[in-house]
Amino acid sequence: MRGTVAIVGRPNVGKSTLFNRIVGKRMSIVDDTPGVTRDRIYSKAEWLGKEFMLIDTGGIEPDSKDIILSQMRMQAKLAIEKADVIVLVTDVTSGVTANDSDVAAMLLKSGKPVVLCVNKCDGIGDLPPDFYEFYNLGLGEPIAVSSVHGHGTGDLLDAVFEKMPEEGGQENYSEDAIKVAVIGKPNAGKSSLINKIAGEERMIVSNIAGTTRDAVDTLIQKDGQEYVFIDTAGLRRKSKVNEQIEKYSVLRAYMAVDRADVCVIMIDATEGYTEQDSKVAGYAHEQGKASVIAVNKWDAVEKDGKTMQEFLKKLEADFSFMSYAPFVFISALTGQRIDKLFEQIKYTYSQTVRRISTGTLNDMLAYATARVQPPSDKGKRLKLYYMTQASAKPPTFVIFCNDKELFHYSYQRYIENQIRETFGLDGTPIRIVIRERGE
Ligand code: GDP
Ligand code: GDP
Repeated sequence: MRGTVAIVGRPNVGKSTLFNRIVGKRMSIVDDTPGVTRDRIYSKAEWLGKEFMLIDTGGIEPDSKDIILSQMRMQAKLAIEKADVIVLVTDVTSGVTANDSDVAAMLLKSGKPVVLCVNKCDGIGDLPPDFYEFYNLGLGEPIAVSSVHGHGTGDLLDAVFEKMPEEGGQENYSEDAIKVAVIGKPNAGKSSLINKIAGEERMIVSNIAGTTRDAVDTLIQKDGQEYVFIDTAGLRRKSKVNEQIEKYSVLRAYMAVDRADVCVIMIDATEGYTEQDSKVAGYAHEQGKASVIAVNKWDAVEKDGKTMQEFLKKLEADFSFMSYAPFVFISALTGQRIDKLFEQIKYTYSQTVRRISTGTLNDMLAYATARVQPPSDKGKRLKLYYMTQASAKPPTFVIFCNDKELFHYSYQRYIENQIRETFGLDGTPIRIVIRERGE
């Protein structure tokens, strides 16, 4: 992964068109995980074999009725904070505007690498005369792009990668530290949890710089295990102006998830499950991250003997797309079951990094296929020859068979269930890759 690129610029210059053009096919993958494909503001992208993250700051609108300029400033600030390279998009048909100049000056002052994109240069051949006035923004050579037709996007990405810092932010945590992202909607209790943990004398806490300038992480040592809580400075300081903007907090959560080994998905028990919870949880799931679901403010819920069971039943239905994730009912306020939360984080981590030997896997496969015969179609039967674990985080298994077409979803589910029944792997998603022999 080579860094993060943010797109900024006035409304209607073509930011989201450019974003979609660069992200391309990746996003057209249909996935039934809630929330993932709906927010097209943050995505992995690829150029000449190099992966990077792309943010469309235009998708992040303040809730208030801000005038365009202050909105652009806010988006530019976000880009300066989060990105390694910024692409300022302008529009050749409207020329350089005062707002373009204002944001260009702001980006220049930040010292962040900027690439200037002059969009809507649709004609092939000679550039429109207005093109040359974009040199006046002082951001170096403008790059002519037509996001609609796709020309110029290659030159644009070449320029972006020329300016990408070499080793975009090295993390120097010990190998054994577990990286944890605490995610959830505003007011779920994330700050309270981090402050509670950091305030406990039994734990050793220190601040360490994360990958981006403002993402300061918190290192915690508990019972001989190191945990790095990602991007917690804002939470501990409780300066949460930006957290109020929903899309900003979702973006921030996405970026924390990307760096995490284990996600703590925090739900507010007094409110129950919401749409926003499914967004970040869905993202963690899609990225293959292990998760623990913390149901917070449990102290504030009126209880009788059955309350927890009833809550659990409802939440299990809400989170059925990630049924592997354990639930812990906590109170960040009183500290109730925070020890249990740490235990679950540690256990879940041990599962997501697990490696299972090929011999053991094939014993399981032999047993599973003997118990429920693989399906057949038009006289041809599915044969599963061999299974091996290709990688961890999340555990990814490759199964070789005679014909992929015969390996129906229902039988894949059966094999996945057999893997879980045999090996556990609680808390972590698993992936199955199907190959035909000879592939
Ligand atoms: P955003 O508000 O900056 O995200 O802008 P959009 O991506 O929504 O684009 C605004 C309008 O400009 C849409 O009607 C696009 O179809 C159009 N547009 C975007 N890129 C180009 C381009 O390269 N050429 C032309 N002619 N129109 C474009
Ligand atoms: P954040 O926005 O997710 O960081 O949420 P905060 O930590 O700022 O908490 C939001 C509000 O919920 C504050 O008023 C907290 O005091 C309250 N709160 C947080 N955790 C708990 C809890 O476990 N129990 C109760 N009763 N209130 C809590």
